[in-house]
Amino acid sequence: MSTSRGDTPERSRRYWLKAASVSVAAGTVAACGKWGDDQSACAASDVREWALIADVIVVGSGAAGTCAAIEARAAGCDVLVLEMLDGLGGATGMSDGVVYLGGGTPIQKACGFEDSVEDMYQYIVAAGPVHPHQDKVQLYCESSLEHFAWLVKHGVPFTDKFFDDTGLPMNGESLYYSGNELVYPFREMSRPAPRGHVTSGVGGAGGHRLMEALLASAGQLGVVYKNNQAVKRLVQASDGRVLGVMLEQDGKPIYYRAKRGVVLAAGGFVHNRDMVKLFAPELHDISVPWGSAGDQGLGILMGMGAGAAAIRMNQALIGVTAYPPANVLKGIIVNAHGQRYMPEESYYCLVGHETAVHQRGQAWLITDADSAYPQEDTRLPEVAKANFLEELETQLKIPQGALLATTNYYNEYAKYGEDPLFQKHPRYIAPLIKPPFRAYDLNISKASYPHLTCGGLHTRNSSQVVSIWGDDIGGLYAAGRTASGLPAAPCIGNGISVGDATFFGRQAGKSVASNSQA
Ligand SMILES: Cc1cc2nc3c(=O)[nH]c(=O)nc-3n(C[C@H](O)[C@H](O)[C@H](O)COP(=O)(O)OP(=O)(O)OC[C@H]3O[C@@H](n4cnc5c(N)ncnc54)[C@H](O)[C@@H]3O)c2cc1C
Repeated sequence: MSTSRGDTPERSRRYWLKAASVSVAAGTVAACGKWGDDQSACAASDVREWALIADVIVVGSGAAGTCAAIEARAAGCDVLVLEMLDGLGGATGMSDGVVYLGGGTPIQKACGFEDSVEDMYQYIVAAGPVHPHQDKVQLYCESSLEHFAWLVKHGVPFTDKFFDDTGLPMNGESLYYSGNELVYPFREMSRPAPRGHVTSGVGGAGGHRLMEALLASAGQLGVVYKNNQAVKRLVQASDGRVLGVMLEQDGKPIYYRAKRGVVLAAGGFVHNRDMVKLFAPELHDISVPWGSAGDQGLGILMGMGAGAAAIRMNQALIGVTAYPPANVLKGIIVNAHGQRYMPEESYYCLVGHETAVHQRGQAWLITDADSAYPQEDTRLPEVAKANFLEELETQLKIPQGALLATTNYYNEYAKYGEDPLFQKHPRYIAPLIKPPFRAYDLNISKASYPHLTCGGLHTRNSSQVVSIWGDDIGGLYAAGRTASGLPAAPCIGNGISVGDATFFGRQAGKSVASNSQA
């Protein structure tokens, strides 16, 4: 492979750390396109000269792109990764780095937990969206042990320590319940097991450690990274095969040839506000778009420009975090009618999804004196406080008597450690009787609701991109949030997006390497 700018992997790797601190504001990326730009594929017949030729071109340097690159390189291909930002690593590098894995990983076993492929599959299918991509879920669960071993082989650090609390492990533990496995009714649908695998370290930054390891491994294998390279369009032959990519240099198009194919691993579109309004309007007014500045939807638009189907585009992970401390989960979450609508200890993306989508974005966490946040904890805005629940419901404009009735009913059983309505776990049940009573706002535009898009290009298990007519688009693969994969609404647990991106990124790398097109 020849390169015109000569960025070595070593040089490029130093820059990826910057990606983690890149501004999340959409408008900060001068190089990116916007909805309405022409992302249609260029005709190969118009290309006069290829500025660069590689076996495989990967668009995007996050988890999906880097795992694709490693696999393609390991299969003997020249691999070029193009990254539009200054730094490498994408949203993955900013993330908590939790990977959802199970079926009896060495860490699960060492920490004394039994798990099976069937239990993992049952849980994902039961807790997740209607009509999930069952074939992808099955492959992912069946491959989970092998995928864990692969991550370890590529230097991703884990420890045999279990974290037995709410929230994210912060003190070097690598295993925790990252989803709804212990929450009713899911704990009765499949045998619960902790499946959140997080790189070991202190104080978060798990995604940083994950990407550091993967980028180092890719560099050692000889994958070439070029940063500040925003891919604009694909190049397509008259028979539909994707032959390369188009970028712009000094306002002029330049073309890079990919002899075996192109992998689109360019993240999602949460920072392309026009796309969000068009494809996932219910997300538009939610408080915290979550992703790197590269989440502009360009990979999806380029795929569509080559005839790919984009599916489930309104799907999203929407979170709202009340815990830790676990103590506040002894409170109750009520909607505008003063009604509870789910077990309060549910995974925070389940609470976020339910509240944003099914409760019109309006709800409160109600606590008494024993379940209130410590005064210095201001994560949820406190919007009402009163010595009597009647006063609290008046302040919140909840219909008269509704909050009182809900609380009385809850207390009636809570004093016995029971919750007949939602089977909340007994460790989070206590009657709400000690004033003052408080209401914390869970409104989608006021509380912190991190969210990211899950819709994307339609792909097969091999990460092969599928056209709107159901045919394979030769030479085109996609993975991570550029594709529609395991993550969907509601989200089943932290780690499902990075798990999907790393695994189906690998699938893309293997597939493109075995593609014989020249
Ligand atoms: C703070 C935070 C915490 C999170 N924690 C977790 C977690 O613990 N577990 C989990 O499963 N999920 C988590 N997520 C979500 C998860 O990190 C992402 O969904 C996932 O990492 C996406 O991986 P990816 O490879 O698809 O995209 P990315 O990692 O975002 O990589 C895509 C790359 O493509 C580049 N790119 C885009 N367009 C172009 C173009 N036209 N040309 C060239 N390059 C381009 C981007 O700049 C970017 O670097 C978190 C997200 C955030 C923001």
